Amino acid sequence: MRSSSAPAVAASGEEVGRDGVRQPGGEVHAWLPGQNQTVCGLALSRTRLRRFPHVRFDYSGTDVLTEADAVGWICPRCLAATVGRRGKEKRGWVRDSPRP
Ligand SMILES: [Zn+2]
Repeated sequence: MRSSSAPAVAASGEEVGRDGVRQPGGEVHAWLPGQNQTVCGLALSRTRLRRFPHVRFDYSGTDVLTEADAVGWICPRCLAATVGRRGKEKRGWVRDSPRP
């Protein structure tokens, strides 16, 4: 009931990393595996968004995108929806491990 409902990523583009694993690029939305639309309501078939079921949508509004990132834009509506969901699950503020 926990991991199966975790939002994954749907994106307009993709890059293949050095390890051969596809990574999302371009516009990024949250997507719940099994559904045919993004969290913000875009139909995957109409928008040609690609699905990344192996990539968790764990972006936050404070993430800073640089030119080195393949991701160019993160949907604010999907962000808001998934951040609210996470807050309820964890019952309060839990700080993620800091990045280097
Ligand atoms: Zn979205």
